[in-house]
Amino acid sequence: MAKYHLHLAHLYGDLLNTYGDIGNIIALKYYAKQMDTDIQVDVVSIEDDFDPDQFDIAFFGGGQDYEQMVVSKDIQTKKDGIKKFIEDGKPMLAICGGYQLLGKYYVGADGEKIPGIGVLDHYTLTQSEHRSAQQNQSRFIGDVEIQNEDTGAKFHGFENHNGRTFLGENERPLGHVLAGHGNNGEDGTEGAIYLHTYCSYFHGPILTRNGELAKQMLLEALSIKYPDADLTPQEGLIVQPTF
Ligand code: GLN
Repeated sequence: MAKYHLHLAHLYGDLLNTYGDIGNIIALKYYAKQMDTDIQVDVVSIEDDFDPDQFDIAFFGGGQDYEQMVVSKDIQTKKDGIKKFIEDGKPMLAICGGYQLLGKYYVGADGEKIPGIGVLDHYTLTQSEHRSAQQNQSRFIGDVEIQNEDTGAKFHGFENHNGRTFLGENERPLGHVLAGHGNNGEDGTEGAIYLHTYCSYFHGPILTRNGELAKQMLLEALSIKYPDADLTPQEGLIVQPTF
């Protein structure tokens, strides 16, 4: 029996799971085990209730425009719950399509505006709508490397997206692009951080290649659920995250 237990919401895990995004949950479980923690995973999907108080940590993956349209309609009913979860400072990882839907809107490849829930301030245009002279009309596909400005931590991943995302005032980028395209191919940003919500275009999946972020999210979840626990290396944590 593990000492600690976390409940993870896999938002629309049956619809949005590009490039094995579910590997992020496998990575979280792997690191959680090292922290004497087990994770119960529940998919929260179409017509399900999302009660933010039932969950300690959340994952929201990416997908195709069609699935995003389906999710866009349903997720409006979960907006208040997701907003509370995020504002409570609980950790969430949102990748690509999930990242786009946490923001104000995403204009899909065919020009249709797909509403997000606007709990984060970014918005996402389509490649053909937003094309500078240097950009050709193509998806952003390939390996990406970024560096977080505050910590110097580097992240490695793979991107494949039509959307060009522009961050809002109260969001910081997850990192600055060293190689690849990132949020929009123009301003050198990749991903977003708001409180303990981490967004990225990285498939790959990001947490399998960037374990420090997984450990950081677990510590954030554990410190909310077990405020009196001494979550130090002596308590069984193999590595103290430095992210
Ligand atoms: N459909 C979105 C886009 O093309 C998201 C893609 C994804 O999640 N990989 O931008």
